[in-house]
Amino acid sequence: MNKAVNSSVDMICSVSELATLFRQGQDIKGFLTQVVQIVSSHMQADVCSIFLYKEQRDILVLEATAGLYSDMVGKLTLKPGEGLTGLALRELRPIREGHGNNNPYYKSIPGSGEERYESFLAVPIIRGVKRVGVLVLQDERSSRFSKSDAQALKAIASQLAATLENAQLIMTLPEQNEPSVINMGIRHLIKGTQVVEGVALGQAYQMEGPGNHDKLISSIDENYKETMEDFHSAIDSTEKQLEELQNRLEKELADVASLIFSAHLLMLRDEGFFGAMEKRIHEGSSPKDAIVHVADNYITLFAGSHNPRMREKVQDIKDLGHRILENLLKEEGLHGDYSGQIILSNELLPSELLKLATQNVEGLVLFGGGITAHVSVLARSLGVPLILTEDDNIFQIPSNTALALDAHQGLLIVNPDDAARKRIEQLIEGSDQVEKLEATVLPESFTADGVRIYLRATVNLLSDLKLAKRLKAEGIGLYRSEFPFLIRSDFPSEEEQYLIYKQVVGGLDNPLVTLRTLDVGGDKILSYIPDSEEANPFLGLRAIRFLLENKKVFVGQLKAMIRAGGDRPIRILFPLISSLDDFLNARRIVMKSLSFLKRDGLGQFPVPKLGAMIELPSAVEMAPELAREADFLSLGTNDLVQYMLGVDRTNEKVADLFDVRHPAVLRAVKRVNDAARQADCPLSICGLMSKDPQTVYYMIGLGINEFSMEPGKLPGIQYAVSKMDIKQAQKDAAILPTLGTLVEVREYLEKLNLPTPDL
Ligand code: PEP
Ligand code: MG
Repeated sequence: MNKAVNSSVDMICSVSELATLFRQGQDIKGFLTQVVQIVSSHMQADVCSIFLYKEQRDILVLEATAGLYSDMVGKLTLKPGEGLTGLALRELRPIREGHGNNNPYYKSIPGSGEERYESFLAVPIIRGVKRVGVLVLQDERSSRFSKSDAQALKAIASQLAATLENAQLIMTLPEQNEPSVINMGIRHLIKGTQVVEGVALGQAYQMEGPGNHDKLISSIDENYKETMEDFHSAIDSTEKQLEELQNRLEKELADVASLIFSAHLLMLRDEGFFGAMEKRIHEGSSPKDAIVHVADNYITLFAGSHNPRMREKVQDIKDLGHRILENLLKEEGLHGDYSGQIILSNELLPSELLKLATQNVEGLVLFGGGITAHVSVLARSLGVPLILTEDDNIFQIPSNTALALDAHQGLLIVNPDDAARKRIEQLIEGSDQVEKLEATVLPESFTADGVRIYLRATVNLLSDLKLAKRLKAEGIGLYRSEFPFLIRSDFPSEEEQYLIYKQVVGGLDNPLVTLRTLDVGGDKILSYIPDSEEANPFLGLRAIRFLLENKKVFVGQLKAMIRAGGDRPIRILFPLISSLDDFLNARRIVMKSLSFLKRDGLGQFPVPKLGAMIELPSAVEMAPELAREADFLSLGTNDLVQYMLGVDRTNEKVADLFDVRHPAVLRAVKRVNDAARQADCPLSICGLMSKDPQTVYYMIGLGINEFSMEPGKLPGIQYAVSKMDIKQAQKDAAILPTLGTLVEVREYLEKLNLPTPDL
């Protein structure tokens, strides 16, 4: 380890001490000032400054500085991309300049006192996919900062990210936030977008918000009564509970269970964790203090780690610490379990979501994100009511505040009155619709005038299969294979995959099964791939591009899929195909995989039907060629809309622009359908457009008859289809692509008064 990195490691300890001070009520401005002073002294730089990013206003604000004039604090603002500091935030990469003013982006801020500094180093502070701010060093000497300084500063920024994000959140609260928060004054309603229908009553639990560490940081307990024996029995009970949770998960969600509680179980018996607690008790601490002290050390350590996989473990440690404390103190409400709780959070990792669902969480309110983001997709499969909101007031709601979540309407009610409570209770009672739906849904779907339409299931988790079967899906139109990959901390083995795919293949009576190869990248990041962070992940090494670059993973997955198919002619689908070359390359790898299976004596299998997903404008252009080569095409409308319209599907801020009725989208669908028909190539639709009665109507009018959707949507779409008249749909489908504006398309479709089943 070089000197700079070494000193940053020393420094990290001091920062973690500061973080502790901060959480105990240290004034935030004072805290930030201490941070910049320590960083500038450790990095021996003349200046250290922290800029925090205010998302609502899209600006960076100087919040603390050691070296620049302090009266600029709070006043100096930059837009992302403005100056070298803004550039670091916009491009999410370190900017290092030996002679700052030689760089075209350099912008000296008058009145800040920075004119005399030659060397410049800025690193973005990022938390997950959230931009928190920029940490900047400056020095009078030219070429002062080396590459390893940049690395060290990056490590520090990463250490500080969570704390700074909290600082930023708190600073945006109004002056007297306590009373206004509790009463919520005018704001007792938070609006959001429904992602997973459902309703819930419960208490707020701030996943990352201020005060979330409170339970684990407590004062020295002078009058304790618990003994070492009590501590050991708390550990034993905790272990038993975790094993039970793991077993339950394995039964109910076998594909993604993969020892999801293994981190807890391993930690529990680890010398550094359990052993350290035991040692402190031997040395005279109370068991409670020993648990709190050791767990909190780990939280600080993990939260500050440069390695994203380590950072993912913070919530595990909190949960584990709370669970042990709960077992020791036999106190309620320490969140060993999330029953009766509604989580308020920034982004969530799929593994976190799974753990919350297994631990009985009632509902979720997430800040930002998009309804087609993978966490949303997973939440739908797990059936946890979820809304997404752009209202950062959710972070003002203290943990334990009473909440009512009405995800049907995209509403969170803070401190609901009796009437609101009663309404939600009634909705909860009537919420199990599956039996009713099961009784009405028919095994085959037809339009009003008898045209056969195939409604298939989109399956994300093995647990979706049950519902798909109950609601009579005519096969699996899309199996998203990425969740087992996203949940694990390493690639699942070929054998593990085989066992999962085998269950998918045998999941329904209908033989049509479409297994999609791994679609990672974009917002589906595998944390175990080193250097997987990309500035524009949706334009990066995603889906088929990733597999073509990682042939071993590709071949492993294909072999597992082909074996799972056995003698059945399964369909294998490649996501994000951007050229005929992509498809031909992927097909070559399938043929190789078949020959490997034969060579290894694993059997001779039929060649699967191979399909290309049309999700990119380039694939729309190449649809005639792709339709000639592929056995089938699948239109992935979530991505098609994203890439055609240039609207990030995971960004709630531009959700209004993500409109599946955009004339460009309607025309693209028509072109792909024309190409498919010309080549006599089956075309099926998945993504948002397959579960929206208006777009289904348009596509049926074009002659498309295969749609894949989440099982819960099948009865509603079947009903809507049964009211459609094919002749009329054909007439309307001829007119719709000729309309030039979104307004015209919307008005045209609204006038048709199609049934919009609220199912
Ligand atoms: C799509 O893009 O429409 C699709 C079904 O794939 P995913 O949502 O998994 O990207
Ligand atoms: Mg897609």
